[in-house]
Formats: sequence, structure tokens, C-alpha cells
Amino acid sequence: MLQTLGSGKPVVAFCDVKSSIYQGDFVLSTAPISSLLINPQFGKANNLQQWNDNMKAQKIDISLMPSRLMQTARQVKIANILNGSLAIVKDMYYNFNAIVPDIDNNTDLWYHACKKSYRRVTVIKSSATCKSCRTKDIDYEERYRLKIDVTAENQFLRITLFDAAQYYLGCDVKDYVQSTSKKKEEYEYYRKLVLSKGKEFSSLVKIDCNFPNVGTNMNVIATEIHKVQKKVAPDETKDKEIASARKGVCTFRAQGQIYHDLPSLVPRDNNPCYF
Ligand SMILES: [Zn+2]
Repeated sequence: MLQTLGSGKPVVAFCDVKSSIYQGDFVLSTAPISSLLINPQFGKANNLQQWNDNMKAQKIDISLMPSRLMQTARQVKIANILNGSLAIVKDMYYNFNAIVPDIDNNTDLWYHACKKSYRRVTVIKSSATCKSCRTKDIDYEERYRLKIDVTAENQFLRITLFDAAQYYLGCDVKDYVQSTSKKKEEYEYYRKLVLSKGKEFSSLVKIDCNFPNVGTNMNVIATEIHKVQKKVAPDETKDKEIASARKGVCTFRAQGQIYHDLPSLVPRDNNPCYF
């Protein structure tokens, strides 16, 4: 039912649920007394709905805005990631800024992957063996991803974007591939990719204890990536509105979906809420 409502961006309120951190991710779990309200009619929910409508009117996709994790993760340098000094704590998120020096068109945007382990497999006569699962003739799929090289302080890092490609391209990689199979110069996603050259981006990455033993080449999966906004004059109304909206609503990822933290909508310092 939630899936059919999803496109309408309903306000979903959870009551009496338990929140916890599982493998570094925020997770909500239900108990027998938990309840779920869809588009409830009370102040906070109405404010959130109104905020969503305002963002929509300004053509801002709220699902692509920086999450709370993105905003609160510790800021590090590429060197810290490369030297393995961050791999002490399990499943920690870090944030780093780097420039995209060039757009590499040579890497394939998809590969055949085992449906179970997501590991790359070689398909021979539509049959594949997964080394990770040690199983023959496994179920496989085309797994889409975008790899980009970033640089800061003379250090280079290659990052891989799976779902996070949406932040970068404005669409997922599969849609991007389909859009470029037509006449690519005309497409907004391709344009967005080209325009990212030379720009600074802030990336959110999860580093765990196994890092950097992830492979022979340093390959880091970014879970979010956002263009670093240049500082603007305080009277720029639009940016101010976005900033206040970001302050007002906390976005966090729970089991792959974006949820909004209702309690954070409570106006701070007794000021009215501006959405
Ligand atoms: Zn497998």
C-alpha cells in the first residue's frame, strides 16, 4: 500500500517505534503497540506537507537533499581514507570534499553481478558462476554504477556511486544509460555530468574495519554526493529558504528509503516555522 502512495509523497508518521543504529545506519523497528499514520491531520504533519509542496513548487527534489548523516558525519581528507587510519571503528560514515577533475567515459556503467552477493560474475552462454557464493549457474543481473575520480590536496580517489548516482546525475545510472543511447548531447543528465567537471563535491562514505582490503584498486562507495555550494550573500532569499528547510527537516535513510524526522519540525527558540 505504501508503494502505491509513494509517488504522491505522503506524510507518514510512526508512533511508538524503536530507533537504533545498525551497522552505522539509522533503523526503525516496530513493536506490537506501534502504529503507522498516513497523511495524519495535525500541525506538524500539515507543516511537513506544506514544506514538501513549497519545495515541489521550487522544483527542488527533497529526496536528493543532503541527509542529516551527510551534515553530521565527520569531515576528513582523502589522505585519511587512503592511509587506513579511519578503518579502526566499524561502519563509520565520513564526509570529504574533493574536485572532479575530469569525466571518464571509458568505464562501463554496468556489470553482471550475482543477485545474492552483488559480486561481479562472468557470464558465459547465459550461465555464471559466483566465486563469492561458490555456486554455479547463479541468478545474475545488470548492476549499474558510476565511477568518478576525485581529487583534493594532491590525493586522488576513485569513488563508486550506486544509488548515490541520483544525487550526481539527477537520475539513476540505468535511466542515464537509456537516455544516452539516444542523442546524448540533448539530455539533461548528460549535461549535468559534463557540467560536474572541475566542480567541488562533498561525498559521504562508509568505512569499515575491512577497509582498505576491498580490492586491489582503492575503490570507495559513496552513499551520497552533493555539489559544494559557494557561499552566498545572506540576502539571497531562495538559498535562505533552502537552508532553513534543511535545518527544519532531518532526512535519514532507513532500510533504503528516505524518511523525515517529525520531531525535528518543532520550531526552535519559539520562533515560528518557515517552510
Ligand atoms: Zn554470489
